This record gives sequence, C-alpha cells and structure tokens, in this order.
Amino acid sequence: MDRSSLRRNSLLAILDREHPAPLSVLSEARLAPGTEPYSPGLQPSRVYFPLNRALSLLLVVEEDTCAEAALIGPEGMLGFPTILEPEDGHWRAVAVLPTDAVVVDALRFAHLLADTLAFRAAVERYSATLFRLSVQLAGCGRFHTVVARLARFLLMLHDQSQGRFHLTHDVLAQILGSHRPTITRACTELRELGLVDYRRAEMSVVDRTALEAVACACYPQTRAAVAQFQRSCQPALPR
Ligand SMILES: [Zn+2]
Repeated sequence: MDRSSLRRNSLLAILDREHPAPLSVLSEARLAPGTEPYSPGLQPSRVYFPLNRALSLLLVVEEDTCAEAALIGPEGMLGFPTILEPEDGHWRAVAVLPTDAVVVDALRFAHLLADTLAFRAAVERYSATLFRLSVQLAGCGRFHTVVARLARFLLMLHDQSQGRFHLTHDVLAQILGSHRPTITRACTELRELGLVDYRRAEMSVVDRTALEAVACACYPQTRAAVAQFQRSCQPALPR
C-alpha cells in the first residue's frame, strides 16, 4: 500500500502526521457494490477508512428490517461496532458504490488509539459527529417523506460520485427502510420532474439544484456536520 493513500482519508491523514503507522498493519481493499463489510449476525473484526465514495451503515432493527444510521465517507471510518459491541451482530454496512478503503484489524486499531493523542482525539470527535448524523437520520425516517429522503440520499451519493452510478431499487429500499414499490414510485416522481434519470438501475442526477430543493433539511444539516468535522482535522496554520 502506498503511504499517499493515507492522505485521502481525514482520520488517517492525522494518524500519519502524528505517528506514522507501519504500513504492514494496514491494507487497501476495493469494495464492489453490494459488498458487506459488516453483516447481521457476524462479529465485526475490521475497521474501514474509505478513501473515496462512502459506506452505508445500518442498524438491524429486527429481522429483514434495517434503519439507516450514516453514510461514511473519506472523512471518517467504519469501525465503532468493533469497539462498542464487538460480539454484537446488529450492524450491517454496505458499499453502495465501488469504494476503496484502508483496512485495519480491530485489535491493531485499538493499539493505534492507545499510542496516539491527536488521532485518538479525532476519532472521538468523529464519534460525536457520527452520533449527530445517526440521530438526524433517525428523525429523517420518522418525519420526512420518502421522496424527500430519496432526494437527500441521492445528493449524498452524488457528493461522492458525480457520474452515473449503478443503484437498484432493492438496495435503496433496504437503506431507506422502505418497501420497493414505494421507492419505485419515488424514483419515478423524481424522474418525471426531470431531476434524475435512470434506466436499468443506472442512475444519474440531472438537475442537482432542483434535487436540493426537493430534499429534506437533513441534507444540508448532515453535510454541514461533516464539513465541520473535516475543518477540525485540518492542520493548524503556523502563526
Ligand atoms: Zn430528512
């Protein structure tokens, strides 16, 4: 793995500045769409730092029913279940788009936390950000319409990938905790409004500004929370 990869993730960039981690404990992986780093019933044992795109983290509410918890991009990491509930299989994480990530074993990640100050502090700040995002999305599922939530999720994906992306209605239904026919109706509505285009599960955003107008307030709020965290990761300017 090339050390320059570390600079593509906000947390790893801090780790590299503070305590250059031996590359032997890190590996790089490409997660194809549909790959599940965490699956229900399986103990999560690895921590993932996305380098591009994002991983969707879901809480398994009950069998076959998940609640959207966060979309984790190059600003953060997928790994808190390894710390908080290492023997719990209540989490599901999915690569919605092809995603490159740096991967580290959970035990080695715990050692890195113990050996660092700035990195550990950044991980703690990110945990607070993730809590903020999760509560926001819990409210999103309770109070906002499926069309507004779908628009919000497509904008979040568009932030990670501006081109056409492969996205089935089944996957959208699982992530948004809705029924597939409801998602199909919502996609049709957005397409008829001229905001998105899709054919054979190939989706693209046609009118981003108009899509932002349809999306719920969770989009700008979650985006602002992530931006605030990213600003906190910037190195201090010399005085
Ligand atoms: Zn919302």
